[in-house]
Amino acid sequence: MYNVAEVNAEACVAQKGCRLCIMYCPEANCIQLDSQNMKAIIVESRCKGCELCVVVCDAAKHNAITMVAR
Ligand code: SF4
Ligand code: SF4
Repeated sequence: MYNVAEVNAEACVAQKGCRLCIMYCPEANCIQLDSQNMKAIIVESRCKGCELCVVVCDAAKHNAITMVAR
């Protein structure tokens, strides 16, 4: 079992221009912008569980990403 990031779409403010998690995630194409509903989405198969996205999202007080066990 390992942890991967999960975005709470209701809390994500990507529609207001936030791209913090996408910019800081060290894995290429792991966090993407869902251009239909303008929310960040995690490609779970690419997530390495480093939690950097959680740190930057929480630091900006959006608190939209949690780690979940898989
Ligand atoms: S950092 Fe948080 S609020 Fe910003 S786009 Fe990522 S999940 Fe959404
Ligand atoms: S936990 Fe790390 S690898 Fe996974 S989405 Fe967040 S920043 Fe990317």
